[in-house]
Amino acid sequence: MALLEIENLSVNYGAIQAVRGLSLTVEEGEVVTLIGANGAGKTTTLRAVSRLQKPVAGTIRFAGRDITRIPADEAVKIGIAQSPEGRQVLARQSIQDNLELGAYTRPAADMKADVKRMYERFPRLGERASQLAGTLSGGEQQMLAIARALMSRPKLLLLDEPSLGLAPIIVREIFSIIRELNAQGTTILLVEQNAKLAMNASHRTYVLEAGQMTFHGNSAELVNDERVLHAYLGG
Ligand code: ATP
Repeated sequence: MALLEIENLSVNYGAIQAVRGLSLTVEEGEVVTLIGANGAGKTTTLRAVSRLQKPVAGTIRFAGRDITRIPADEAVKIGIAQSPEGRQVLARQSIQDNLELGAYTRPAADMKADVKRMYERFPRLGERASQLAGTLSGGEQQMLAIARALMSRPKLLLLDEPSLGLAPIIVREIFSIIRELNAQGTTILLVEQNAKLAMNASHRTYVLEAGQMTFHGNSAELVNDERVLHAYLGG
């Protein structure tokens, strides 16, 4: 049984069919990448899994349970957390407050130890614990967005465009964190514009075009596949 199973998922925004009949699986322990051009439906897929977006058809199963219609806070409780596109940290709140918000589904007694764990993993956040999140660099905000998601101790971490707008050296740092998190047992579904980078960091890749999955395979095999380039250039 896969940790995440999406079957025939369709999501609309009014008349726009953002995702059409998408099926995919993520096995426990994997990093799986979703790639595709702008507007292909990647973010919408993640939002359907984290239950922020309502599907019009299809089934989403997590650890064998049908979660297609559960509320978003229930999804966090059962082990699904999302680091959203554009980070969306609370700019006028401190790093510490942002982290504590990520733990709202957890017992209050665990909060202190969990925050400490995040500061050990992301020392730069620990050094700036009381600093307002809005004053952080883009890379630090990305680390905060990931750390905030990790505060709920997810089994499945959804990462939306973690490299967006960051300098290459910071992107490398973020991706080494992604590898480390996975090595320590977190299963990851990753959406990323930088296809090569994402494929190098993942076990398998699904390619989306105009809301539909066109092909998928082992990342190591797809990394030099010209169909991937084709998907980006839109034919
Ligand atoms: P990007 O890399 O640009 O984020 P994406 O692959 O993540 O692209 P989505 O953001 O999932 O794609 O968008 C899929 C389609 O749904 C696009 O046609 C987009 O314009 C449309 N869409 C996304 N969000 C909304 C919304 N809130 N209202 C209406 N249409 C939307």
